[in-house]
Amino acid sequence: MGRTCRGICEMHEALPAPNKIRYEIGQKRCTFCGIFMSTCDARCMCCKAVLRTKPRSKKK
Ligand SMILES: [Zn+2]
Ligand SMILES: [Zn+2]
Repeated sequence: MGRTCRGICEMHEALPAPNKIRYEIGQKRCTFCGIFMSTCDARCMCCKAVLRTKPRSKKK
């Protein structure tokens, strides 16, 4: 299945926020489109990729 960024994500792009708190305030990242979105959906409405809801790594 081909994933394509159709530009829809840009219309749903999350408000600017420090990266640190983006996941905390419910923003989700589409790693395919490369942007954060404000959505309650588990998948990107643009490319259908599963959205990331947690930081990639916990470095201490
Ligand atoms: Zn997109
Ligand atoms: Zn996407």
